[in-house]
Amino acid sequence: MTHRYDVVVAGSGVGGATTALRLAETGLSVLVLERGGFIPSEKENWDTHEVFAKARYASRDEMWAFGDGKPQFPLAYYNVGGASKVFGAVLTRLRERDFGEITYHDGVSPAWPIDYADLEPYYCQAENLFGVHGNPASDPTEPYRSAPLPYGPVDHEGSVQDVVYQLTDMGLHPYNLPLCIDRHNGGSCVRCSTCDGFPCMVRAKNDAERAAVSKLLELPNARVLTNAKVERIECAEEGDSISHFVVTHNDSVEKMRAKIFVLSAGAINSAAILLKSKSDRRQNGLANSSGAVGRHYMAHNSSVVLAVGVKETRTVFQKTFGLNDFYFGDEKYRHPMGNIQMIGKVNAEMLRTMAPYVPKFVREYVTSHSIEWYAQSEDLPHLESRVTVGDDGMIRLTKQRTNERSHAELIRRVKRYMRKVGFPIVVSRRLDLKTTSHQCGTIRFGTDRNDAALDQFCRSYDHPNLFIVDGSFMPSSAGMNPALTIAAQALRAADHIASREFAAGT
Ligand SMILES: Cc1cc2nc3c(=O)[nH]c(=O)nc-3n(C[C@H](O)[C@H](O)[C@H](O)COP(=O)(O)OP(=O)(O)OC[C@H]3O[C@@H](n4cnc5c(N)ncnc54)[C@H](O)[C@@H]3O)c2cc1C
Ligand code: SF4
Repeated sequence: MTHRYDVVVAGSGVGGATTALRLAETGLSVLVLERGGFIPSEKENWDTHEVFAKARYASRDEMWAFGDGKPQFPLAYYNVGGASKVFGAVLTRLRERDFGEITYHDGVSPAWPIDYADLEPYYCQAENLFGVHGNPASDPTEPYRSAPLPYGPVDHEGSVQDVVYQLTDMGLHPYNLPLCIDRHNGGSCVRCSTCDGFPCMVRAKNDAERAAVSKLLELPNARVLTNAKVERIECAEEGDSISHFVVTHNDSVEKMRAKIFVLSAGAINSAAILLKSKSDRRQNGLANSSGAVGRHYMAHNSSVVLAVGVKETRTVFQKTFGLNDFYFGDEKYRHPMGNIQMIGKVNAEMLRTMAPYVPKFVREYVTSHSIEWYAQSEDLPHLESRVTVGDDGMIRLTKQRTNERSHAELIRRVKRYMRKVGFPIVVSRRLDLKTTSHQCGTIRFGTDRNDAALDQFCRSYDHPNLFIVDGSFMPSSAGMNPALTIAAQALRAADHIASREFAAGT
């Protein structure tokens, strides 16, 4: 069976859904192929045991190998909306300096092929699409913006507000986190404790399914096919154009044809699909004449920090502020250290997955007296930080540690300030290779086709009708959450595709 569309998009996460919506809005016929199904609204959406201990919404399709360890089920989200169904809803811009080269003590964060100014209008559009709340003026590192955020900040709860006041008195600049939850007048967010890491039961989180796929489904020229897994990509017999995606849909194998192909399966899976699509003519896989596909894997150097105080904490939805005071370094450590932000409130059941031998009453005491943080520092691209695919088809992730010192300096500062504001016990836990939440870099864009797989609009240098639009295009991870940048570049790439590939008369 063969099909023909203007554009076929593989993956309905932030990158795929945003690209597909923008293209379909121009009138092009668009087919989205999504490997998973829709996550149902069900009471288990907010059940900590189901979501954390049993990983109810993570994939059980396949195992991956992590480093030299035994294969395990990854924390991969194969569903409509991708990882954004469980994301923490912080939609932030990179800073202007993140687009240039940054030198660290043990490596270099490379320059992007575009400047902040190229992405700025698209950041505005992405913030509107995803309905972001915030107060950019509260963050001194916030870059120039040409339009305000659609909604004002989400206010702080009791204990969080106390911490904000104290940090401000100490000369720091706690800022309102930009959040894509429906907390405006008439919005349906009930401000629960199970947002970060959970799907939203009342559909008030503006993930890619709600913000983009639901709008796509209203258009007559767009279609979303679920349980449709792209297995490999085939080139035409002559020339370099892509001819079709080979797709397993339910139990049948189909060829999906189009003029333009967009691969948006996430940074790890998109690289794996290209590597699996090798042939006699292209023995390193597709789109890989540079050798960059699967290399430079990054996922942030990140830690969870738990600060325990003497007083009981009064907070349900605590994730309302962050700190960028150390983002570009400080007087004692001149290199950028990264960003610190609150995470969703940790409860006793979540703590059990991190500290299984601690008795329940201790976990309950601790989590009723604690606040928690997520600290992220830039991870640097390294040739040997890689996604590879074995002969048996298994994905393997290997990682070289980079920029460790900056992260250690950041954690030291979080701990110091937490103690100063009344939390004497502060512990941190480094997230390991299995935490792939902020995956990026594996099919990077760049100006030199010998060093990068994609041009500045995410078009493959090797295949003129193939675009790759997900976290994989990012040549550096910066120290900020990636999703808004992926969405902004998706809008930019889609505008380019619509105006260049489908201009009237072509
Ligand atoms: C717990 C958690 C919290 C997070 N919090 C934040 C946050 O607060 N802010 C932020 O900016 N980022 C956050 N992130 C990261 C953010 O969610 C991702 O950066 C973003 O969603 C990545 O989008 P993507 O389009 O690159 O890929 P994905 O979201 O991974 O989408 C890829 C899609 O492709 C589909 N797919 C995969 N393989 C195939 C195939 N072979 N055929 C067809 N379809 C396929 C998948 O099912 C999926 O739907 C978080 C992530 C997690 C897991
Ligand atoms: S805090 Fe709001 S958006 Fe987040 S899960 Fe709860 S109701 Fe949904």
